[in-house]
Amino acid sequence: MSTAPILRVAVPSPLHRCFDYLQPSEATPVQPGMRVRVPFGRQQQIGVVVALATGSEFPLSKLKAAHAVIDEVPALPPELLEFTCWAARYYHHPVGEALATALPVLLRQGEQAVPHQQRRWHLTDSGRSALESGALSRAPTQRALAERLAASRQGLIEGLLLGDTGRQSLRALEQKGYAAVEMVADFGLIEGSGGASVELNADQAAASEAIAAHNDYACYLLDGITGSGKTEVYLSAIEQTLARGEQALVLVPEIGLTPQLVERFARRFATPIALLHSGLNERERLNAWLAARSGEAAIVIGTRSAIFTPLARPGLIVVDEEHDPSFKQQDGFRYCARDLAVVRASRLGIPVVLGSATPSLESLYNVQRGRYTLLRLRQRAGGATLPSFRLLDIRSKTLEGGLSQALLERVQTELGSGGQVLLFLNRRGFAPTLICHECGWVAACSRCDARLTLHQGVGRLRCHHCGHERRILQHCPDCRSLDLRPLGQGTERVEQVLEARFPGHRVLRIDRDSTRRKGAMARLLDEARRGEGHILLGTQMLAKGHDLPDIGLVGILDADQGLFGSDFRASERLAQLVTQVAGRAGRAQRRGEVIIQTRHPEHPLLHLLLERGYEQFAEEILREREVVGLPPYTSLAVLRAEAVDPQAPLHFLEVARDHARQRAGTQVELLGPVPAPMERRAGRYRAQLLLQAAERRELHRLLAQWVPQLHALKAARKVRYSIDVDPYEML
Ligand code: ADP
Ligand code: ZN
Ligand code: ZN
Repeated sequence: MSTAPILRVAVPSPLHRCFDYLQPSEATPVQPGMRVRVPFGRQQQIGVVVALATGSEFPLSKLKAAHAVIDEVPALPPELLEFTCWAARYYHHPVGEALATALPVLLRQGEQAVPHQQRRWHLTDSGRSALESGALSRAPTQRALAERLAASRQGLIEGLLLGDTGRQSLRALEQKGYAAVEMVADFGLIEGSGGASVELNADQAAASEAIAAHNDYACYLLDGITGSGKTEVYLSAIEQTLARGEQALVLVPEIGLTPQLVERFARRFATPIALLHSGLNERERLNAWLAARSGEAAIVIGTRSAIFTPLARPGLIVVDEEHDPSFKQQDGFRYCARDLAVVRASRLGIPVVLGSATPSLESLYNVQRGRYTLLRLRQRAGGATLPSFRLLDIRSKTLEGGLSQALLERVQTELGSGGQVLLFLNRRGFAPTLICHECGWVAACSRCDARLTLHQGVGRLRCHHCGHERRILQHCPDCRSLDLRPLGQGTERVEQVLEARFPGHRVLRIDRDSTRRKGAMARLLDEARRGEGHILLGTQMLAKGHDLPDIGLVGILDADQGLFGSDFRASERLAQLVTQVAGRAGRAQRRGEVIIQTRHPEHPLLHLLLERGYEQFAEEILREREVVGLPPYTSLAVLRAEAVDPQAPLHFLEVARDHARQRAGTQVELLGPVPAPMERRAGRYRAQLLLQAAERRELHRLLAQWVPQLHALKAARKVRYSIDVDPYEML
């Protein structure tokens, strides 16, 4: 008893600490990374052993014993365990909750960490002789089954072997000793077929060689416009990783994991590929996770949370579209998978590649500082040219569904010449709101400081912030007027206008509403690629790295939303969106055109972007950020609070600020608290306190002392609060 170690267990709880337990009496030796079932308060919880200790700050007699040890081998390999604990410390998130986020749901619930098992049949030697000697000639079903088994190398999974019938015949074969069954793991992997690779151009070859040159940590920023062949560089680098017998982890944005991308990997590599995305059920997710852990999967492709995948033989990490905001988790454990990819690669001593046509300012800054190596692809693969840009002043112009006459005419000629058109509007629904033409009343959400969006198709008004919805009103609740009109444009409305104006052409609307059903996105993109003379109309979903058809004309219906956003990243986002959408034009032989509608045609940022390109634009914005002291030149964290009581969040944040001020010294600036830009959301009032420091280290020193103590503040009981390190948005 005296020699038995004490288990330091991370239990999902808001407390920033681990809990000590004694080993259960019958337990096999416990190792860090194993899951244990422990008594916690009046409940039972599943926690992860993060360390074994020889002593505890509590007297041993006070410690409870764990109920049971769930794993025989650690569910979390040491590397992943330590990496996740590091991430919990960096984001100042409770370690038990961070680990719970990192684990597949089934493991969190105590399920065994074993893959799904299947019955697989094969023909025995005597079965083979029986087949050859014709002994089965009078049992045609048995013979048919035996023939199919004889033709398969590894045997056949029972579900594939048997149709509705044949079960009895299979049993007969088994009883005669002709067929045998075994249980095999079914990881649900995609089996790549493997195939030819393209010949890389000089830039691509240089990039791929640089990445594979040494087998050690290095971070590369692969900067190349859309269509410049970044994916081919990833594939080539991965090929070399696989040749060394190592695994590659590929992170893609939430909606970047399209069937085309997966097909491209499968066509290239004759290896098992695991996919981790939001469409999986929990069993499938666990299987893919286990396949990565066992090394069964050579390539793992996944969205944000895949950064927490265990890897048996890690060799390379790729982050595609590294600027994409979806790599940042916006609730709970607010990590950024792109940043964590760099940290994990460095801890593993392997290379990491961040790819983008519009790199984040953080990554460009890291290149300037010599932390990342820049690899540039300067030309479009296949020699396609860059599109030309035109700003279209729409002040005092009559618009039809948000389109000016000039743009409509240009659409007409493009379609007339058999070209495809892409129109971009970052607003789904029919119209941003409904307004009373008599008295000016607008449909607002009762729970948020926001308007309700009109969704004509389903006949409802919906809040895009809290999900609240109601039927479309027949008359104004204030003046009873029946003259309620949609105000402004959403993609649904533009779709109607386009369909009426261009009959005979297919309008493909791609937004969150039209792609909600499984497979809908793939079908729409398929249709877009097959057809001719289509109009693609969509939100930012279209800006992502989809393999779209050649597009002759891109129209950006409203660039002005991005120019005047309240967030300090608004202009960076706008430039990324415009550049990404524009990247869809002119991939074929013909030069494409991009038309941007704006009411601010003289805006200097727009001109900088269009005349000098994204890179120069980014440099200018970086200079501005340096002058005003914003990231990446400073480090930020936000403490957010919300409550039904309008006063409670500000009060809590004031108390928290004063608490921090005693510790902050002069290195960390405390700004606020102030109400959030949208103060009320889903019936709760929200406020935020900003922490800013020139030195990241100083900020973290303060957070490490301060955040774990917040829960003990009396004012904390009246609010929900969260800390966000390196925030993306100031919501
Ligand atoms: P990106 O990822 O930068 O958007 P891709 O890798 O998808 O670019 O390449 C764009 C297109 O050009 C793809 O159809 C790809 O197969 C093709 N391509 C890329 N590199 C080459 C090359 N070296 N030779 C011929 N075609 C290429
Ligand atoms: Zn009215
Ligand atoms: Zn709402």
